[in-house]
Amino acid sequence: MRICRYDDDRIGLVRDDRLYDVSEVLETLPAMRWPLPLGDRLIASLDALRPRIEDAASRAAPRPVADVRLLSPVANPSKIVGAPVNYRQHLDEVLVDPSLHHGLDIKPIEKIGLFLKSVSSLVGPGQGVALRFPDRRNDHEVELAVVIGKTADRVARAEALDYVAGFAIGLDMTVRGPEERSMRKSIDSYSVLGPWLVTAEEIEDPGGLDLELAIGGDTRQKSNTRNLIFDVPKLIELASSFYTLCPGDVIMTGTPSGVGPVKPGDVIDASIERIGSMRVEIRAA
Ligand code: MN
Repeated sequence: MRICRYDDDRIGLVRDDRLYDVSEVLETLPAMRWPLPLGDRLIASLDALRPRIEDAASRAAPRPVADVRLLSPVANPSKIVGAPVNYRQHLDEVLVDPSLHHGLDIKPIEKIGLFLKSVSSLVGPGQGVALRFPDRRNDHEVELAVVIGKTADRVARAEALDYVAGFAIGLDMTVRGPEERSMRKSIDSYSVLGPWLVTAEEIEDPGGLDLELAIGGDTRQKSNTRNLIFDVPKLIELASSFYTLCPGDVIMTGTPSGVGPVKPGDVIDASIERIGSMRVEIRAA
């Protein structure tokens, strides 16, 4: 099942290149009072809502998915987790390029662990990326994004995939420089998630997916998730050993080699096997 959020927070079921408005299912979500629970209520309820989503889609008139403005399929994650240098070839390119490491002591993921991005940085492909410091180097990073489906606290590797709601394409945009990752990667619009959420049953093995990023038709990054240093189950095990993962939390699993600068006017095409592709425009803030 492919679920997207679009236009003014409508929810759609995507089949091939057609979208079916199933927003009526949102009315069945439980009413909430302060203090709101952490995490995304739609993602938390997604399994239970499946029959209603299918029913609503059967009554909806299809329209081309290309006609809508795609937002992040997750509206309210409590965390966006990042995996630093999680592909060996990307680690190698960072170590030899001063414009990437900025004299910082780059440690492997086995030592440094994970980082967090602000949730306010999250946008969908239809919103684009706004460069806040266009005079500095801003880089693209295409990544497989994992969306957590249920509360995960100290989950063992063997059970980790049971906690996944689905997968999407992530862009972990970054401004290069000496600041902490959590600051450089948390600028508004520097976390792009889309084009939709592909639920977990459609991707039994997230460890064998081709991923690619092109700018203006020129391929910049191309790899396969089998080259991850820490694979998806390991990332869930590691993250949840330190903090509870909530429904809707996003793990950006790391980017392969080929990272490079973007400038206003660039158009990114990012694709991942079995998920799809998304187009993201770059502008100055
Ligand atoms: Mn990254």
